[in-house]
This record gives sequence, structure tokens and C-alpha cells, in this order.
Amino acid sequence: MDYTFLHSTILQWFDNNQKVYPWRSEVPEPYHVLLSEYMLQQTQASRIALKFPEFLISFPTIETLSKATNAQMIIAWQGMGYNNRAIRLRDCAKQIMDTFNGNIPSNYSDLLSLPGIGTYTASAILSFAFKQNISVIDINIYRIYSRVFGLDIQDAKTKNEVRTIAEYIYPKDNSSSWHQALMDIGSSFCKAQNPKCTLCPIPDCSYRNNPSLYNMKPTKSKKTEASFRNKPNRIWRGKTIEFLRNDHQLGHNLHDVLHSILQQNPNEIDIEWFKESIIPSLIKDQLIEYNAENNHVSLKG
Ligand code: SF4
Repeated sequence: MDYTFLHSTILQWFDNNQKVYPWRSEVPEPYHVLLSEYMLQQTQASRIALKFPEFLISFPTIETLSKATNAQMIIAWQGMGYNNRAIRLRDCAKQIMDTFNGNIPSNYSDLLSLPGIGTYTASAILSFAFKQNISVIDINIYRIYSRVFGLDIQDAKTKNEVRTIAEYIYPKDNSSSWHQALMDIGSSFCKAQNPKCTLCPIPDCSYRNNPSLYNMKPTKSKKTEASFRNKPNRIWRGKTIEFLRNDHQLGHNLHDVLHSILQQNPNEIDIEWFKESIIPSLIKDQLIEYNAENNHVSLKG
């Protein structure tokens, strides 16, 4: 493979076709990159792009974010799902204020010490916010490298092979544009199902040359998810938070909350399930408070 040609093709494509997001900029603001990476964990970029400016008005700096209450975070997080990410983000901001004088760390180990930041997010912040030379592998990039090099995603060895490829393949003077270009290519063309190879700017790809050779479906370990009334508990958790978010000041009787999320009068089994499964898990994630004496549920203040 001609890497010089590959680099120039992809970087030029990115210059002309990159997706416009409020956190992307010639001179990136590390706080904006940090926020976006938290928000993008498990939520679509198009949805985050809509919420991002509004969130920045509420929390324009890492300092303002660090002072937010749980309830303020949960309200500001509306529409982005997985509310415990909001709490982790605030905790991360607090730790940055307390430990790093309000400066987002620009090295890998300090970033990894922050709540909610794993290896992918740390690399992405170093590459996109600080323009450091580092490889970044998210699920889109993983799929692209596997397909370009004809690796079987199902094979256990592929993980290490992709890691090795990721280290040597990116242009060492432009990690940021390279990896953001691959993310855009992944979300526009190299999708898990039915990749649009005829439109993809990557010039040489094993999968395009012979799609039948490889099994390119990512393996998903099937976790059994706790459910109730044919819906996973995570949906019921989300509905509970949504209800409280819309009227968070007052607190609500547990019976009213259940009535609202079930859309019918709860029976004893419903109440028992709610008290034993949903309430404790939301308390554990610091999202709600529950007063057993008066049966009141509210967002955590
Ligand atoms: S040519 Fe097809 S399989 Fe290869 S990277 Fe592009 S979209 Fe993915």
C-alpha cells in the first residue's frame, strides 16, 4: 500500500468534506473536545450537535461545570441518554479543578485518572484537542482498518493486529485530521451493514476488492438484560428520570412516578420491582433521592 498516497487522499477528502460540528475547530478548545467526547459515548453525533451549544450556555467553562448539582446536570443532559454520564462528567470537571488547577491534562496517564475517561477518550482528547501524535481507535476506525486490511473481525487475533496497524498507519504530523477523517468515513460509508464502498474515498481496500472473503460483522457478546413488562430496565430508568426532570423541584410520590411511566395504575408487583430494581440503581448512580418515610422520589440535588 502506498501510504503517502493514502494520507494525501484521505486528508484532502477531509479538507473538502469533513462534517461540521460545534466542537471541531482549527484551534480546538480542549474543554469543548472533552465535552463532546463525553457526549458522544453511545449517542449519535447529529443529536449531540444540536444539544452542544445549549449545554455550553449553561456551563461555559470547566469551572461552571464543576459546580453543577446532580439535578442541574440531569436537566442539562436531556435528550442525550445514559444520565450517569452527566454525573461522571461533572465529577471529572471537579477533579480537573481540584487536581489540575482547572487545566485539562495533556498527558495520557493524567487523563486516564479522571472519571469516565478510558483509553479511547484519552487518545481522542490528546489527538483532537492537543494535536499530539497518537493513534485513536473507536468502533468506526476499528471496522475500517479490519476491512481495508482484510482482517476477520470475529477473529480474536484481529484486535492486536488492528492496534499494530493503528500505530504505524496514521500520518505522524496530523493524527487529528486523520482520525477525524476516518470517523467521518465510518459514519458516512463504512457502516456495519452494507458499506457504501463505491462512494468511499479510501483508495485501496481488501473488502471492496472482495467482500465475500471476510465476515465483517462485529461480534457482539449477548448480555442478558434485566427487563420488566417486556422492556429492559434501562428504558424504565430513562423514563423515570425523564418524568422527574420535567418537574424536578417538587419531588413526587413513588406511586405517581410509577403510574406515569407505566401509563396505568401500578399493582403490587410493579411497586416491588420499582423499589427493588429501579430506585436502588438510580440512587447508586447518584441520579435520584428516595425518602422511604414519605415515599418521595426526586432528582438528586
Ligand atoms: S471501501 Fe468499503 S469496506 Fe473499505 S473502508 Fe471504504 S466503505 Fe469500508
